[in-house]
Formats: sequence, structure tokens, C-alpha cells
Amino acid sequence: MEGMPELPEVEALAEFLRERAAGRTVDRVDVSAISALKTYDPPVSALSGLPVRGAARHGKFLDIEVGELHLVIHLARAGWLHYRESLGTTPLKPGKGPIALRVRLDDGSGFDLTEAGTQKKLAAYLVREPGSVPGVAKLGPDALAADAETFAARIRSRRGQLKGVLTDQSVLAGVGNAYSDEILHAAKLSPFAITDKLPDEAMARLYEATHAVLRDAVGRSVGQKAATLKSEKRSGLAVHARTGLPCPVCGDTVREVSFHDSSLQYCPTCQTGGKPLADRRLSRLVR
Ligand SMILES: [Zn+2]
Repeated sequence: MEGMPELPEVEALAEFLRERAAGRTVDRVDVSAISALKTYDPPVSALSGLPVRGAARHGKFLDIEVGELHLVIHLARAGWLHYRESLGTTPLKPGKGPIALRVRLDDGSGFDLTEAGTQKKLAAYLVREPGSVPGVAKLGPDALAADAETFAARIRSRRGQLKGVLTDQSVLAGVGNAYSDEILHAAKLSPFAITDKLPDEAMARLYEATHAVLRDAVGRSVGQKAATLKSEKRSGLAVHARTGLPCPVCGDTVREVSFHDSSLQYCPTCQTGGKPLADRRLSRLVR
């Protein structure tokens, strides 16, 4: 299970594109998976001949700035960006294989947006303003940019279990399933703690942990090639995707709670007073 790229990985992809693609001109864009392209005006052919100006991140969305346009990408769970020094000249076969969209640059390099598996969730939008992408318009403040006061106010604005609220992109943008497990472990808080009952001292710990975990992951991710980012993410995890392994802090066994299409991991000693969480409480977590 790889999981969806979150704030640190998307930040690293944006940095990578700023270094490698900015200053180049788009030669052409080919769309192989029609369903991945969510917009039709302007058409992708409008990108041909325009310069790549940079790349940015909005929550977990990657924003490639081309001329006055924005190619905004949500990689979803199985999506990824593969940069190649040389793309070759073989045309894409529409509807075949994992490549959804290919951007060819004027020096023969470029990148493929790919999606493994059968669940096709990768989404690309060509827009004049990033805010016209519905998912971007709904984003709350960035999890790393919010100050302590904003952070606490946003978390308390939504009554619910910490795990669900922390991963709600309209509350705070950028944190997903993997890093929320890591943040809650670092903060020594239960994933099921209720947000509006959280004491100030616990909220302060949550804020500190969010910054520490995300900053550390950004630090490890930026500078990595796109190809090695996923393994870099896995290597830095304390509890996420480590069910049955010892907690690196206390040695207790990392436990898991499963949902129908996801799971969370936590350490009972560090986070829940040594008590395993009951699965039946979970239905309230998934909304
Ligand atoms: Zn522990």
C-alpha cells in the first residue's frame, strides 16, 4: 500500500519541476486517459509553445504554471509523476497502459502522469485560475502555513474525531492518511479524540507535531528524484503502514483499525493509555 502523495511529496514534486522544467517550453501535451482530464476550455493544445514558468502546491494538488495557464493535478491514491530526460517518440496508445497524460518539452524531456490499478481517480485540470478547480477552491489553510492560533481554530471549527478532522482538506490542507497517523503518534493523541474537547495543552502538542512531522518529511523529500520519493516517504514512518512492528518510541506493537477502503495505525502505549481501540467505533470516522 503506497497511499496518496501528501503535502511533503507534492511539495517535492513542485520543487523538482521548478528545477527541471521551468524555463522550458511545452512542445505538446498528449492525453491518453480521456477520463483524467476534467476540463475542456482551454483545450490542452493551448499549452503548445508556452513556457513553463514554475510549479506550486495547493494542499495535495500540484499546480504547473505554463504561460498564463495552470495545469492542476490531483494524483489520487495510485497516481504519480514520472520525469524523463528523453521521452522517446513512440506515440501514446489511447486508453492503454498506466500513462494518463504526457507533457513533452522542447528539449525532448518531459513527464508522464501515470496511474496504476483499475480505480481511475487521477485528475488533471487546465484552468486560468487554480481556484476554479473545485477541490482547490474548497481547501482550508495550508497545514504548514497556518500559525498556532489559526491551526487551533480550524481544528475546533469541526466537531469530530481527530483523525477525520485532520485529514479533512477543507479544515486544513495537505495532510492525508499516512501523515495524520504520524502526526497523532508524535503528538501522543488518540485518533478518536474529539476535537472540541481537546485541552489547550494537547492542541499545542498537535500543532507542534504537525509542523515537526511535515517539515521533517519535506526535508527528506525535497531534493529526491521523483522516482525515489515514494520509498523515501515509507522509510521515515513510525506507525503508518507498520502494523505488528514495534513502535520506535516505546517498543509496543503498532496496531491497526481497518475501514472498508483504508486503515489507520497507532501505538496503544503512546496514544491511547495502553488500550487497543475498538473497531466498532470506526463507523463514525468515515464520513
Ligand atoms: Zn509507542
